[in-house]
Amino acid sequence: MATYEVRCECGRTIPVEARLAGSRTSCFCGRTVPVPNLSQLRRAAGETAIPRTVVERIRLAIRAGELPDNRFCPFNGRPVDDTVRIRVECERVTVRQRGPSWWGQFFSHVVFGWLALFLPRDQGRDEFGHDIVVDVPLAISASARESLAAALGRKSLVDALRGTPLYRELLEEYPAADVWIIDDDPA
Ligand SMILES: [Zn+2]
Repeated sequence: MATYEVRCECGRTIPVEARLAGSRTSCFCGRTVPVPNLSQLRRAAGETAIPRTVVERIRLAIRAGELPDNRFCPFNGRPVDDTVRIRVECERVTVRQRGPSWWGQFFSHVVFGWLALFLPRDQGRDEFGHDIVVDVPLAISASARESLAAALGRKSLVDALRGTPLYRELLEEYPAADVWIIDDDPA
C-alpha cells in the first residue's frame, strides 16, 4: 500500500498508509495529527492526475468491464445479445518524446498537408515508435452476424464504432486508422 506523509505542528513528518486517509494518526510528540483525504495526500505527494491517452482510457475501460456499452446493434438497431471484436490499427506514430522528428514532420506534411500544423504534437509517453493497435469489443445483435460475414466496408465499421464515445474519440485522433473485424465466431 502506498505510503504518504503528513506533517505535525512540531515539525516531524509522519508516514501514513493510504488506508488512514481521512482519519487521524499520532506523532512522537503526543499530538494527534489529522490525515487528509486520499486525493489531498496524493496531490501533496505529487501524484497529480496524469492525463491519459484515449488508447489508455479504452484499455482501462475494457479491463474494467465498461466496454462495450452500446445497448442496440449498430448494424440493425436490435437489442444486443452478442459481441464482436474489432481491430483498430491506428497510424504508425512518428512522434518522439521531445516533439516530432524532422522526418515525422515531413511525413505529416505529405500525408496531412497543412493540416499537419494543427495535429497534436504530444501523443503520450508510451506511444512513440510503436504501431498502435487496439482491439475493441462492440455489442451487436446475433442476427446481424450474417451481414457481418458478408464483407463489411471500412466505412460501416467506422460508423458502427462511432456510436461509442470513446471509440469515436479514438477515430478522431487517428482518422486514417484501419478497421476490421477480428472475431466473428459466435461466442
Ligand atoms: Zn509532533
